[in-house]
Amino acid sequence: MSLNNIIDLRSDTVTVPTPAMREAMASAEVGDDVFGEDPTVNRLQEMAAERLGFEAGLFVASGTQGNLIAVMTHCQPGDEAIVGDQTHFYLGEQGGMASIAGVNPRPLPNQPDGTMRLEDIQAAIRGDDAHYPITRLIAIENTHNKIGGVAVTAEYTLALAEFAHARGLKLHVDGARVFNAAAALDVPVSALTGPADSATFCLSKALSAPVGSVLCGSRDFIKAAHRRRKVLGGGMRQAGILAAAGIVALEEMPQRLKDDHANARLLADGIARIPGLTPVGNVPTNMVYFDIDPGLPFDGHELCRRLETMRIKALLTGARRIRAVLHCWISREDVLETLRALDTAVKDGDKMTSSGAKVGSY
Ligand SMILES: *Cc1c(COP(=O)(O)O)cnc(C)c1O
Repeated sequence: MSLNNIIDLRSDTVTVPTPAMREAMASAEVGDDVFGEDPTVNRLQEMAAERLGFEAGLFVASGTQGNLIAVMTHCQPGDEAIVGDQTHFYLGEQGGMASIAGVNPRPLPNQPDGTMRLEDIQAAIRGDDAHYPITRLIAIENTHNKIGGVAVTAEYTLALAEFAHARGLKLHVDGARVFNAAAALDVPVSALTGPADSATFCLSKALSAPVGSVLCGSRDFIKAAHRRRKVLGGGMRQAGILAAAGIVALEEMPQRLKDDHANARLLADGIARIPGLTPVGNVPTNMVYFDIDPGLPFDGHELCRRLETMRIKALLTGARRIRAVLHCWISREDVLETLRALDTAVKDGDKMTSSGAKVGSY
């Protein structure tokens, strides 16, 4: 089931609402959410909090807004947040943590499994010295986008939460695709979020809702977060129209994510058989990154352009690296068609010339 007859693999953000979501949106009961009176938003927030293992939830415009509200609620200006150096929070949110929240990011190396080493974190925690910002927060990402969609384990999350709490620090989980992580690891989502002090997830990615994310935490945390959402322009009034799709997303979509993961494997295995193309990592969830061999006479930009002439879109993430993300609007047939197109594109590669790469992200 491709979108507008295009196999769009750039991201799972391109997913459009399902017919069931559109129906729920049309008939949603709504009210003024700034007064807390939108019954559909309230229901979504309760459902999300329950799934993620928290007391309360807050419907927000986007994952970026949810992360920013989380850092503004946990921290004061002049505080410091420890983040992975490959995270979306650090690399892909315009530095809002610094520019809007006034919080100093302290990037530490992300390991191939998406974690940061506890000894690195220990060494980065600031001492009591007037020269330093105050370490307040640790944030992790799950699944880890730039590390190939790797799922960070429940064991690590719990250990990190205990580590943070023993040192008076808070833990935030940027779980934009945490439902994919739960499906890959075969654990309840709450095992990947509940031990933390807050977590966000995106309704508008693999879960296919049109708009929104939910930030979850304790009742007190969410009460404070509600104020921050307003100043960031996130008081959305009759947002139940959007939340209605989110409820369907939570009810119907998590159980089908394994299909996307199987399709990602199928795509990666097929790519591995095309001479000159090499999948990166072991493709644990719905993302396939692959590299173009330096021996081939064209770059990623050219290959993407060539694919587009065959109605297939993929995302350039490096001069010779391409990302394809599987989602509910990409069928197994679409994957097979993509593999045939890649094969053709590579075989015809000598007719292509390399051109300046415009590298995209997320
Ligand atoms: C997409 C993404 C976000 C931001 O979500 P938006 O809704 O696009 O603002 C945050 N973190 C990660 C890991 C993401 O992949």
